[in-house]
Amino acid sequence: MARIIAIANQKGGVGKTTTAVNLGASLAASEKTTLLIDSDPQANATSALGFQKDPARRTLYQALILGEPIERITVDAKMDRLNLVPSDKNLVGAAVELVSMENREYRLKEAIAGIRERYEYVLIDCPPSLDLLTVNALAASDSVLVPIQCEYLALEGVSELLDTLMRLRRTINPSLAIEGILLTMYDDRTTLSKQVAADLRSFFGSQVFESVIPRNVRLAEAPSHGMPVLFYDIHSKGAESYIQLAKEVIANAQKRVGQGTERTDPGAGAAASAAAGAGTSPSTVAVGGPTRTGDIDGGNSAGT
Ligand code: ATP
Ligand code: MG
Repeated sequence: MARIIAIANQKGGVGKTTTAVNLGASLAASEKTTLLIDSDPQANATSALGFQKDPARRTLYQALILGEPIERITVDAKMDRLNLVPSDKNLVGAAVELVSMENREYRLKEAIAGIRERYEYVLIDCPPSLDLLTVNALAASDSVLVPIQCEYLALEGVSELLDTLMRLRRTINPSLAIEGILLTMYDDRTTLSKQVAADLRSFFGSQVFESVIPRNVRLAEAPSHGMPVLFYDIHSKGAESYIQLAKEVIANAQKRVGQGTERTDPGAGAAASAAAGAGTSPSTVAVGGPTRTGDIDGGNSAGT
């Protein structure tokens, strides 16, 4: 039975798609049958896996809105054990159309229920917002992986995301865990990167993955060649770091089986209080003040 992991952060450009594609490929390379669901209308994961724009290709839109079986939309991602549910810009429409649909938070969960047995991991690449596409991803998932870029203002928006996660846990998905917080675009030559990483670890503790993704030009180049970094330059630091992350994800799953527990409980609660406490720390990690969190019914963020 698949572990379903949403890769989410409403902040743009923090490495969600890079993580979805390269963690997906690294899990597949570790012989774990993996499905990557591109749930972002930007369709960056779809193109990073080498699928050019094609209006005839069916996408997640058909599954979410028209109820087509997801296996008919799933394509082979040109790598053993890695499949893809593609996206395209029509998915923008889904975010809006979902608002007036029955069961609007659970459409993705229902769509993938029948294929859970076929995979060991399902990764969902979310858009940079807390709209209904993200809510559907979080409702369908066992856990959420939050990439955070190692830069000034790294925590901006994270407390909002964690508030939303807690609210989701109270309402539509009580079992949603934190898979982990992932430090991305880390540059060990800068004091700022080191300071941000140290601060994030002191706020979030063991919820931060030990694996760190360095800033690495190969990771940025690989998508334009339509392939995961593993195929583009397997010896790059970027490839190594995602293989390491896949090992950590797999090891954590094995630990959970051993303990019969979620490693991240109390999960969002602890992380959110850590984020709240961060505001008082004399550190480089700035935290936004209390902000209105996204309504989990999508009412605010779908713009309607
Ligand atoms: P969006 O919010 O728009 O969906 P995202 O969170 O999915 O963005 P990515 O698309 O993965 O972020 O990354 C943003 C940009 O940074 C891309 O051009 C990507 O190639 C580059 N990038 C991501 N991770 C790294 C890295 N570790 N080193 C260098 N470049 C990176
Ligand atoms: Mg993205």
